[in-house]
Amino acid sequence: MISFEKSIAAYKEAVKLMPGGVNSPVRAYKNVDMTPIFIERGKNQNLYDIDGNAYIDYVLSWGPLILGHADDEVIKALKDTIDKGTSFGAPTLLENKIAELVQKFVPSMEMMRMVSSGTEATMSAVRLARGYTKRDKIVKFIGCYHGHSDSLLVDAGSGLATFDINTSPGVPKNVALETLTVPYNDEAAITDLFKRHGDEIAGVIVEPVAGNMGFVPAKKSFLQTLRDLTTKYGSVLIFDEVMSGFRCDMRGAQHLYDIKPDLTTLGKVIGGGLPVGTFGGKREIMKNITPDGKVYHAGTLSGNPLAMMAGIKTLEQLNQETYDQMSAKLDRLCTALQAAADKNGVTFTIRHRGTMWGYFFNKGPVENFADVQKSDKDYFTRFFQYVIQRGIYLAPSPYETSFISTKHTDADIDKTIEVFSDAFANVEK
Ligand code: PMP
Repeated sequence: MISFEKSIAAYKEAVKLMPGGVNSPVRAYKNVDMTPIFIERGKNQNLYDIDGNAYIDYVLSWGPLILGHADDEVIKALKDTIDKGTSFGAPTLLENKIAELVQKFVPSMEMMRMVSSGTEATMSAVRLARGYTKRDKIVKFIGCYHGHSDSLLVDAGSGLATFDINTSPGVPKNVALETLTVPYNDEAAITDLFKRHGDEIAGVIVEPVAGNMGFVPAKKSFLQTLRDLTTKYGSVLIFDEVMSGFRCDMRGAQHLYDIKPDLTTLGKVIGGGLPVGTFGGKREIMKNITPDGKVYHAGTLSGNPLAMMAGIKTLEQLNQETYDQMSAKLDRLCTALQAAADKNGVTFTIRHRGTMWGYFFNKGPVENFADVQKSDKDYFTRFFQYVIQRGIYLAPSPYETSFISTKHTDADIDKTIEVFSDAFANVEK
């Protein structure tokens, strides 16, 4: 057994200061019956906690760190940038540069705005869809998570699914009523909804590869149905690629599926570990943002030079070869883990797309939130407690996705296969 003594002591202080002792709920480890592990530092694919334990990290700050922790080039560029100042509240060349870079990866973003989180990106995209169409209703899918703005906290995944919250208290009833929800990957349900409410729907927001109810890729025909319906009814199609962007494919899910949304939201990787999000898309729609139009959007720290630089240096290092290598490692990992589970009689489903991967303790196919909920949560808790003690750092919830970085090695994959296999053999079923 490794020791978490210092983390446990730090947590005792933290709970007096912050709800749950943390600044974001899933970090609290509540649902896996543990206290959170306090991190001291990270380098490349590894995390080190304040008790001196080392981990192979598959959370990677919940997705952003595609180059791993403290990538040499990112850190060097940040050091150079910080000497010039931390924030100006005025345009910098870095903002032009990152926007041009983003467009190379995601050409559907003809114009964009930088923000400081994924939540801001989706909140602004939804407001823009409403302002542009002059309609109020928004459609989202059960189990998808789009950050914590009021309109989007209805039937959401991630922390809400982890802690079994349907719609957050504090969201006004009238606001929640404007958010319509249907099951993910359900073409009949969304078609029926549009038949009934099509003319009132401002926009449809979707994670084109869902990562907040565990890892659940969309069916191509489902995304095509969304494209067809929103075009037919004049609604705005928003792909929330805060997680899938630069992850499920270098060019995002919209490239993987060859379907072009009207608006896209990005976050995580685009900030290289600093706080960044962006929303953008068709020029005709984006022109409605202030000061060109009247849909209000602003931000004191939007386009912050440090955050822009971390993003630029991250995006500059991404290429097809690095993706192919990461994807090949996950292919090997997923195949070996499925075989190990089968051999040990553990019901298990594992998949990956590009650099995202996820697993469930139930029999597939897992296509929506109802399927996800058939996963054995108690087994997940026992499994999680086992693997973390063996130095494999996973998200502490069955409703999250795992990632890989360019720094993970074949030896890391071997070690992970070994630990998972031991867990399948030894954790009580
Ligand atoms: N959209 C998606 C798809 C996400 O995965 C997340 C965060 N996990 C968000 C939006 C919100 O981003 P943030 O936590 O940066 O506000």
